[in-house]
Amino acid sequence: AAGAAAVAALLVDVPDFPEAGVVFKDVTPLLADAAGFAATVAALAEAGRGDDGSVVVDKVVGMEARGFLFGTPVAQALGVGFVPVRKAGKLPREVHEQSYALEYGEATLAVHVDGVAPGERVLVVDDVLATGGTAVATRALVERCGAQVVGFALLLELTFLPGRAALGETPVLTLHQV
Ligand code: 5GP
Repeated sequence: AAGAAAVAALLVDVPDFPEAGVVFKDVTPLLADAAGFAATVAALAEAGRGDDGSVVVDKVVGMEARGFLFGTPVAQALGVGFVPVRKAGKLPREVHEQSYALEYGEATLAVHVDGVAPGERVLVVDDVLATGGTAVATRALVERCGAQVVGFALLLELTFLPGRAALGETPVLTLHQV
């Protein structure tokens, strides 16, 4: 399996994207690397297992768009279903919606009201933890369905931003930190 350092080298810095002063972490080279992608999916899936290796979640939830790329193979690895959280206006049936603040303006995420069932235990998977706004909003959507987020699993944590603190008590696994 690909080592952590080899995988980290596949997370490529893109200066001044999407705007001046931001260094965007591009995960597409990792997705294109079969060994690195496989090792990443296996490591993220560990967040859905207990100490004895048994699966302790009922669903994986991933956020549009890169959360789909990592969340769906994690769900398959765990043998559980996948539920998409999408930008407002994309899901075809009745939804819960949750708005959250961006640096400029706000964004709204949505989940089908029956996407996650009451009482289910959910692992939330995404690529990057930055301010935590996306993850907090996603947890709120899961809770609106009557379910519980038992953990977050993300590829990369930007430690100069307060994402982890924003998530409070919920366990957070990140595979790489910058
Ligand atoms: P947050 O809501 O934590 O501020 O931002 C996290 C969300 O924005 C994630 O859904 C993530 O996909 C995206 N994001 C923020 N910064 C980056 C970045 O540098 N690289 C990538 N790939 N995604 C980012």
